[in-house]
Formats: sequence, C-alpha cells, structure tokens
Amino acid sequence: MSAGKIDFFLMCILFLSNTTQATRWPWSIVSDTKNNFLVSKKKYTIRSITSLKKSCTSDRVRHLFPEKSLFQITLTEKSLEDVLAHARRKKSIKVHVLLAQADEKTSMEWRFASPQGFILQVADEHSGCSKKTIKMPAVIIKTKSGVLLCNGKRVKGALKLRSVCGYGECNGTAYDGDFFIVLHKEKFLCINQVDLEDYIAAVLRTESWPGWPLEVNKVFAIACRSYVMFKVLEAKRSGRKYHVKNTNAHQTYRGRHDVPMLKMAVAQTRGMVLGFEGKPILAMFDCCCGGVVPAHIADFDFNKAPYLARTYACTHCEQSSLYSWQVSYEHTIFETLLEQYKQDIVRLSDIHVTKKDKAGLVTHVRLKGPKHTTIIPGKKLYSLLKEVKSFHFDVHKKSNKIVFTGRGFGHHIGLCQWGARQMVRDGWDYKSILRFYYPGAYFMHLI
Ligand SMILES: [Zn+2]
Repeated sequence: MSAGKIDFFLMCILFLSNTTQATRWPWSIVSDTKNNFLVSKKKYTIRSITSLKKSCTSDRVRHLFPEKSLFQITLTEKSLEDVLAHARRKKSIKVHVLLAQADEKTSMEWRFASPQGFILQVADEHSGCSKKTIKMPAVIIKTKSGVLLCNGKRVKGALKLRSVCGYGECNGTAYDGDFFIVLHKEKFLCINQVDLEDYIAAVLRTESWPGWPLEVNKVFAIACRSYVMFKVLEAKRSGRKYHVKNTNAHQTYRGRHDVPMLKMAVAQTRGMVLGFEGKPILAMFDCCCGGVVPAHIADFDFNKAPYLARTYACTHCEQSSLYSWQVSYEHTIFETLLEQYKQDIVRLSDIHVTKKDKAGLVTHVRLKGPKHTTIIPGKKLYSLLKEVKSFHFDVHKKSNKIVFTGRGFGHHIGLCQWGARQMVRDGWDYKSILRFYYPGAYFMHLI
C-alpha cells in the first residue's frame, strides 16, 4: 500500500460506537433511493463518497475536529453498511505477509501454482515495469548466488505473480491474492499480498479454536484485524517491506480455507477495528491470562499502548485447564536443558525464584550448584523449557524432580482467549468482551 493510500485510509476511519473517550461529531446520515449523503446539523452537506474524500482532506473540515481525534461520524449501522459497500468497491486494504526469506547467497526454491496461471510482472529499476502472462499453471522461482531465476530464466528486479483466478499455491499451501519476490537488505523475501478480510479469515483458522462459537470468533476477528492494521502502519513508518510474518511472531497464517463459521465471523465484523487516538490498536492476545493483572507487569512499555494496561484481573478463564498448571522434569533432563544456557551447571543442588514483578511474573531464578550459584532471567528459563507455559510460575526441587507450578498460557497481555470463550457462555456480546480486555479503546470502521 502506498504512503498516500495509508494516509487516506487513516483519514477515513469512521467512528462506530459511542464511548466516553470519543468526541461526538454532529453529522447524521440520511439516504434516498439513489444516493447516500451526509448532512450536518450545520447545513454542511456531502453528497457522495467522492466529495467525502475531498472534504476529509480539506482544512475546512479538519479544523472542526479536536487535535487528537480523526473523523468521528455518528451513523446507524445500516446506513454505514451502505456507505462502506460503496467505498469497498473502490478500494480494499492489502496485507503483505512474509511467507519465507532466504539469504541472498543461498539457494532456495519456491514453487507456485494456480489453476489459470499467473500474470507475471517484473519491476526493473532501469527499464521500468514489464508484464507478461505465463501460460503455464506453475512457476518455479529459484535463488542462487544472488541471482533470481523464474522458470530457469534470469530476472533482474522484483517479481510479482498475479494469480488469474485470485488465488494460488506457494510450496503446496494455497493462499488468496498475489505473490512478490523481492530482494531487500541482502535477503530474498517471498511475500503474499492478500486482501485484509481474506487474511483475517485465514488467520482465524490458526489463531482461534476449532468448534468455538460465532460470537467469540467475532471477538478474535476484530482483535486480529486491529493488530494487523497496527502492523501495516508500523511497517509504513519503518520502511519494512512486509507488514507481518506468517508465524506466531505476529499472527499464525496458513493460507485459505472454507470453514463457514470463521468466514461468517469475518463477514459480520467486516472492517471493524479497535482504535485509540484515531489509530488501530496493538490488540495483543494470549491463550489464557491466568488472572494476571497486565498493568502490574514490569517489562512492558504501556505508555505506547495504554489500552493494554488493564488494572483489573480477568477471572473468566478460571475454569480453563490452563489457568493453573504443573510440570516436572527429571533432574538429569533438566540439567541437560540448562546446559544450553550455562555449561558449568552440573549436579544442581537447589533452584529458587528470587525475584518477581508486581504482577507475579518471574524476573530472576537462582540455580545453586556444588561450587557456585547462578542467576538466570525468568524469561530465559521460560525459553529453554517448552513445557513451562508462562512467566508466572514457582519452582522447587522435590527428590529427583524439578517441579514448576504456574498460571496461564502466554504473555498475559491483552485479550484472554479462554476468558472470552467463557464470557460468551455467560452472555457477554463481542463488543462488551473487547471493551473489557482493551480499556479505553473504541470501535472504528475502516473504509
Ligand atoms: Zn483470563
């Protein structure tokens, strides 16, 4: 997405719900049989989406808004649908997902296939952009010693593979949208360019839980959409060539699917995001928070994301098996795992948590050996031990075992998935759940 488009996207965020933080804008929407148009109580009339776009960028309109807020327009959901349907026909937001990367000098192969083939575009610095249709349904891209080969022929510049039928496979996994191969900072990047709503539908399959009801999937759809839009804007600022990775470093993404429930959750929340100060929020979520109060976590900068500093505990996940857990390691196995961190920890004689933050997350653990003791950061110990589910734990030595007891599964910040699941059971709707987990954030709609 170009810089101009993103700026315009930001300017066109429409306010959906009434919150205490929002300044209400005195426009209301009326519609006739032919056109939708916005009429202000100040007799200021916008007759079409085109004129809305012009007005959004005009100083005349801009000065009417408070410093921090963007365009907050009171609309009914029904009339909003009409406006958005019109706007969607004109533009859609694309997400660039990094599927794979390879060092420039190494050999790599990516196999693409699409039922009706691809339109191939090569962006060359010197000769501009060339385009040709590949008749074959399969394209093989290879990288070797800094050279990019497309079906055996050398290509200079970035490649775009546009699938004629709207989707294609990369190394056997089907994705909606198109593909790019681009060289950036001595790495070849394989990027999937996918429509935002298709991306959210795909992400739900891996980030949600099979069989969970529609309402909770609507919660996740809005959280995932807010998160990725935050990353889209972040990538634009930083110059990153892609918006998100396809791993749990961002959101796990494994391509297209046909699960009706998930598609419905996306369709029913289409374009909805949570916002703060006029921008989509970093809507982090984890599996089970274990009742930890996020605002008490020391190792997180809440100044950048005040809506994550929840000052009250989630108790909705208490029934989850992940709320409290215990794992134990055989003494010798534990020592072997620790060797990755420090070679001289042999014959561990004792282990204790020596420091926690106010939220109860472990910051330091003392390991005592026969000759000396070592302090290991809590997060480091967590990273070495796959079965330890969170940073909230205690540990002690019991005969020939090292026993961990802990709470929650994940980083304890943002939305708690098992909590949200229980809230739906208890009758909460998706908007109330999101307001509970992201205090101060409000609903916005992307055009
Ligand atoms: Zn919870």
